[in-house]
Amino acid sequence: MNSNRAFSLTRQRLAVLYAGTMGLILAASGFSLYHSMAHERWQSLNRKIETFAGTLHDGIEPALEQPGVVEPVIDQFLPGLMCLNSTQCPEQSSPLERHIAGVTQQENYYVRFIDMSGKVLAAAGQKPEGLPPQANRDIWQTLEATNGTPYRQISLFLKTQDQVPWGYLQIGQSLEEYENYLAQIRWTLTVGFTPAILLVTGASWWLSGVAMRPAYQAYQQMQQFTADAAHELRTPIATIQSTVEFTLDEPELSTAEAHDTLRIIDRQNNRLSTLVQDLLLLSRIDLQSNALNLEICCLNSLLEELVEDFSGRAIAANLTLKTDIKTSAPLMVLGNEEQLYRLFSNLIANAIHYTPPRKPPRKPLIIHMHEEERDAVISVQDTGIGIPSAEQSLIFNRFYRVNSDRSRQTGGIGLGLSIAQAIALAHHGTIQVKSELGIGSTFTIRLPLKLA
Ligand code: ADP
Repeated sequence: MNSNRAFSLTRQRLAVLYAGTMGLILAASGFSLYHSMAHERWQSLNRKIETFAGTLHDGIEPALEQPGVVEPVIDQFLPGLMCLNSTQCPEQSSPLERHIAGVTQQENYYVRFIDMSGKVLAAAGQKPEGLPPQANRDIWQTLEATNGTPYRQISLFLKTQDQVPWGYLQIGQSLEEYENYLAQIRWTLTVGFTPAILLVTGASWWLSGVAMRPAYQAYQQMQQFTADAAHELRTPIATIQSTVEFTLDEPELSTAEAHDTLRIIDRQNNRLSTLVQDLLLLSRIDLQSNALNLEICCLNSLLEELVEDFSGRAIAANLTLKTDIKTSAPLMVLGNEEQLYRLFSNLIANAIHYTPPRKPPRKPLIIHMHEEERDAVISVQDTGIGIPSAEQSLIFNRFYRVNSDRSRQTGGIGLGLSIAQAIALAHHGTIQVKSELGIGSTFTIRLPLKLA
């Protein structure tokens, strides 16, 4: 396939299209995987901050008495609380009550208390430099410390027991771990994508080859068919041409010589017209196999007609033609009668051709017919020269002849069985051969019956 430029180019294009499409699908899947993982992580980070902040808020708020005053309850929840901007811190409380404290150390949290004017009153946990206090109504913020580390922060409003605004509780966590996690996923996806795309490219090349194989085989058959047809056409044309040239070179032509020349031209002409008709028939069957001019045909009367038409030829070849019809009622099929006639006539003509004259006693040429599993089974049985088993699967190929010399003597061009097979297939039937060299051949056709 690769030696043919058109097929090789098409294969390359197909492979590029496959690889491109698969690459896009892979990239889109990777992208959406990355986003869903990032989203999931972001949600879990927010949930954690929210839970921590909610617990702290609910623990502290009921004990707040005066706006801007850091009450002992705050220190109970957060050990190591540092009061800033000259705010007074309460006495250190009992260590038993410091149950939330550990979280601030373990999980990179910071906790800040801000009064209503935005002044930081106290802080615990991490100490990021340069984070603005952000005393506003936005609950969630993403901020950046002076060293560039991003932080996710929640701000919860606090009020005293008398419902007077106290200030804000701010809890934040560094996004460094989150960003490292995303960078890790990005790296894994990028590293995984390269071999995946290489695999996809290889698979695309292989798949495009597999997909194009039937088309290439059909193309090769077509090429072979064209070459064979040209070869078959050339022989009679060359014979006519040389005969005409030879005759023209003759200064004087007797009537007998003129007749001989015309006979040769006539014979070759017949050969040419048979060949052209056969080729036309084959291409018509190929083109119209789905749109045959179908009618209900009675196989019994068709076989009777064939026996009548071929009896003379059989007698001339010193043969007898018999039928063996085992059907209780006439068998009907849906088909094209002209083509079915051609199918059986090709088989009978071959049976007569390939049964050489022998000394008596001579077995007759028999056409059997019976019904089997909703099919009409018709076989043409001869006691002729037979077909070598190695060639039995090839004889249905166009222009194939068993031992060209042997067949050429009979005038065949190797299209008879191809036509028979094409007609059988166009009628949703099958054709098979059983043959033994020197014993004879039986060609069997199965055609689906048209049931009432
Ligand atoms: P052709 O026109 O040469 O007969 P066919 O397609 O009809 O071509 O047959 C293909 C080949 O099959 C022939 O060359 C012939 O050798 C072989 N063949 C067909 N029918 C018979 C038969 N009944 N007995 C022996 N050989 C046969």
